[in-house]
Amino acid sequence: MNAHQHFIGGAWTGSEATLPVINPSHGQEMARIARGGAKEIDAAVKAGHAAMDGEWGRLDAASRGRLMLKLADLIRRDAEILAKMESEDVGKPLTLARNDAQVCARYFEYYGGAADKVHGDTIPFQNGFTVMTVYEPHGVVGVIVPWNYPLQMTGRSVAPALAMGNAVVLKPAEDTSLSALHLAKLAAEAGFPAGSLNVVTGLGEEAGAALAAHQGIHHISFTGSREVGTLIQTAAAKNTIPVTLELGGKSPQVVFADADLAEAGTVIVKAITQNAGQTCSAGSRVVIEDTIYDSFTADLARRFKDLRVGAGEQDLDLGPVVNAKQCERVQGYIDLARRDGLTILAEGELGTNVPGEGYYVRPTLIGDVPPDHRLAQEEIFGPVLVAIRVRDEAEALKVANGTEYGLAAGIWTSDLGRALRLSKGIKSGQVFVNNYGAGGGVELPFGGVKGSGHGREKGFEALYGFGSMKMIAIKHGV
Ligand code: NAD
Repeated sequence: MNAHQHFIGGAWTGSEATLPVINPSHGQEMARIARGGAKEIDAAVKAGHAAMDGEWGRLDAASRGRLMLKLADLIRRDAEILAKMESEDVGKPLTLARNDAQVCARYFEYYGGAADKVHGDTIPFQNGFTVMTVYEPHGVVGVIVPWNYPLQMTGRSVAPALAMGNAVVLKPAEDTSLSALHLAKLAAEAGFPAGSLNVVTGLGEEAGAALAAHQGIHHISFTGSREVGTLIQTAAAKNTIPVTLELGGKSPQVVFADADLAEAGTVIVKAITQNAGQTCSAGSRVVIEDTIYDSFTADLARRFKDLRVGAGEQDLDLGPVVNAKQCERVQGYIDLARRDGLTILAEGELGTNVPGEGYYVRPTLIGDVPPDHRLAQEEIFGPVLVAIRVRDEAEALKVANGTEYGLAAGIWTSDLGRALRLSKGIKSGQVFVNNYGAGGGVELPFGGVKGSGHGREKGFEALYGFGSMKMIAIKHGV
């Protein structure tokens, strides 16, 4: 089987070693990718420097923007190819993969339009001076993304980095590199100059670590686990470069008796089962006011029992999880719940005709979980929802804030005062009131606090993160 190659300096190039690409719906190898390491990363970083010194670095902002809009069109043209590829690679239902392709296009559209709207300022200063600020790209930026939403995560980081005028070296996750390679092909078709976008595939501890430690990069944007994020920040510190970390979460959904409970139930189940629970901002803890705890968990249980799990192409509620290791890990938490005598309130079903060899986990709702139990503290990254009972608003706030993470939170109430108090009190990068995720809008700044990371992706905030401000003070006399 011919392996997919890296895209470096505008050319396709292989490595001696290759890695398998497994379809998690079936457990079968469907392709191979090149296994890059320090050598390929070095070549890609050098290609990035050459691009910054050459045609790419000389392009004005509007021209960069036009290239990005063209790329957005090409992503939309190939949306069905990309969606099918992503569904097979990640195991996700086709409907979800189709949405991922559209969101990826939207990132290039949004940041393409924003490229020529990043303004500096003038600052009133002493007579005889003119002082201004300008934004400049960092230079060559490393981007490392995870396997859960490869197209979305790639678009989310790569688009603002390019819009700001950086050259990018992208290291996709080893499990799911195919859509990033297709994107590189489309970027070449759109006319992006050689070296502006480079993609090196390979293992995290090889290609990823080599990228994070490379002395030729000027910024690194990492989306992934807290464990690896710590390594990335350490590597960045050694080179004294800025870093954006988008890490994990254990996000609470806080539900009060005065909420629209039918709507809350629908959204809460989706927020933990979409993408088989492999979403950084998955609402993985439901914190419920005591007076409605029994009825609300009974409603959630009914909804969990109706969920159907199956192969990506069967397009059911959930696909498999991404690989065998993840399957064991998630199942391990469900087994732990049983061993510790926690109440399993409901499990979803496998659909009919599900391939036997895939990595399937039944979505599971677990009741009356103590807030300090491992299931309520650790990121499971699977379709497992833990329910926690609280007496009142004060206890809800304490529980919501009682983990090492701070990515997202949902608040379900019709009491505006309470919604505002909790919105301010909850320590997280984003809060959603009577919704969860706001449809994933690319315009909305996104990121974590505490163990969920720092820096912001999405919205205009991301652009500023991919550039630095220069102050120019000109003395011209009065
Ligand atoms: P991971 O940290 O294992 O891997 C992420 C990426 O880092 C992959 O490309 C991997 O190859 C690379 N990597 C692994 N080891 C490396 C090393 N030593 N040096 C450099 N790179 C290395 O994470 P994952 O399992 O792919 O993804 C799941 C995690 O990502 C979860 O914790 C999830 O919450 C998080 N995530 C966060 C966000 C967010 O926006 N906050 C979004 C998606 C996923």
